Amino acid sequence: MNTLVLASGNAGKLEELRAMLADLPLTIVPQRELGVDDVPETGTTFVENALIKARHASQVTGLPALADDSGLIVDALGGAPGLHSARYAGSPTDDAANNAKLLRALDGLPEAQRTARFYAVIVLLRHAEDPQPLIAEGTWAGRILDAPRGRNGFGYNPVFLDPARGLSAAEMAPEQKNRISHRALALQSLRDRLASSGLPG
Ligand code: IMP
Repeated sequence: MNTLVLASGNAGKLEELRAMLADLPLTIVPQRELGVDDVPETGTTFVENALIKARHASQVTGLPALADDSGLIVDALGGAPGLHSARYAGSPTDDAANNAKLLRALDGLPEAQRTARFYAVIVLLRHAEDPQPLIAEGTWAGRILDAPRGRNGFGYNPVFLDPARGLSAAEMAPEQKNRISHRALALQSLRDRLASSGLPG
């Protein structure tokens, strides 16, 4: 059985990952259980930050490492909140304040110009100096609403409309969102590539 360290302390993500990778012979252990601290995310892109986190976890543990990074990209704001999605309205993370700030920034903007997408990247480093990391991405295109709708999930879910389904991400049942979201697509892609390219170790 191959053991991977997950460079994230987020319990929700660990469960999603374990569920999606359940049929592969992998054990995924959160970095905290192995004494790995958070590392500063100094990159200027999602993929750089995911690599920084995975490399750090792999360096400290000597194990292959998985890390992810994600955020919301709004076209009319030149890509903001982007890398700063979690702390758009300041630190510590406050979802309601982030959503309010986003709605203010887009106030009065017509529907056609409110395009946005969620983006997620997951990387796997076989070892800390792996020159060819496995990189899997997912995007979920939608539009920013005028006002929040729905109560499910977290983050920008209530202000993100999936136009094809006519529902905000917060109006979807978690099982529905977890089939179509950026993170689900990235995980699916990682799963397929792990299954075909072989496991680390
Ligand atoms: P991280 O990947 O944990 O760093 O999350 C980045 C931030 O992007 C989160 O704190 C949310 O604000 C936002 N975000 C990422 N994925 C989602 C999602 O599926 N729904 C709502 N917000 C999200």
